[in-house]
Formats: sequence, C-alpha cells, structure tokens
Amino acid sequence: MSHPRPFDPSPVTRPFWEASAQGRFLIQRCGACGAAIFYPRPACNACGSDQLAWEEASGDATVHTFSIARRATHPKFTGDEPYVVAIVELAEGPHVTTNIVGCDPADVHIGMAVRLTFDEVGADGFALPLFQPA
Ligand code: ZN
Repeated sequence: MSHPRPFDPSPVTRPFWEASAQGRFLIQRCGACGAAIFYPRPACNACGSDQLAWEEASGDATVHTFSIARRATHPKFTGDEPYVVAIVELAEGPHVTTNIVGCDPADVHIGMAVRLTFDEVGADGFALPLFQPA
C-alpha cells in the first residue's frame, strides 16, 4: 500500500517517527502510574503526569477489531482494495489503528495474533508500522 505520510511531526511525535524509520515501534511509559501509552502524547492519559519515557514495544499484538475496505478510503489507497483497517491491541496494552498486511483479508479475525512489520522508508524518511499474521 502507498500510505499518506505524517506531515511535519511535532516535538511530541518526532521520536516515534524517527524510531519507526529504523524498524522500532516506541510506546511511552508513565513514570508516575506505570501506564503504557500510545499514541504519543505530552502527558499520561491515565493520571496526567508528564513524566513519560519511551520504550520499545515487543511488536506482538492481537486483532481487537477490523474492517475490510472494499473501496479506497483515501485516494492514495486506490488500487489497494480490498485491504484491512484494524485496531490491534499491543501486548503492552495500548491499541493501535493500522493495516493488517501479508494475508488474504478474508483470513483476518478478531483475536488473531499479529506481529509488527513496517512499510518501506520513503524518500521523506518515514516508515509506517503495520501488522501481519504472527
Ligand atoms: Zn500515568
């Protein structure tokens, strides 16, 4: 798939995108309450603390829910249909909106074990995290 790219990452999201281009998926961990956090934020969504540290996620996840897009939901996806838009639950807990790739969309099911992968690093230096069957 040819995904739209993040535009001008903010200071909060830049570490995530820099790691993603190196094949690493970062989440944040709250130093006050221990919550695992994704997507990148300036403060903990559980307790409000700004004492957040980056850590690398295991890359293991399960499909929480999904939909098969049979018509492109963005002009850049034209020709990729059908494709799977999913919310996966990381082993660390947070949910991630992503695509399931590397399998027939008809084979995707809730509870399916999936594993982190990345699309190619583009000329802009970004790579997007995706998930494939484990
Ligand atoms: Zn917290």
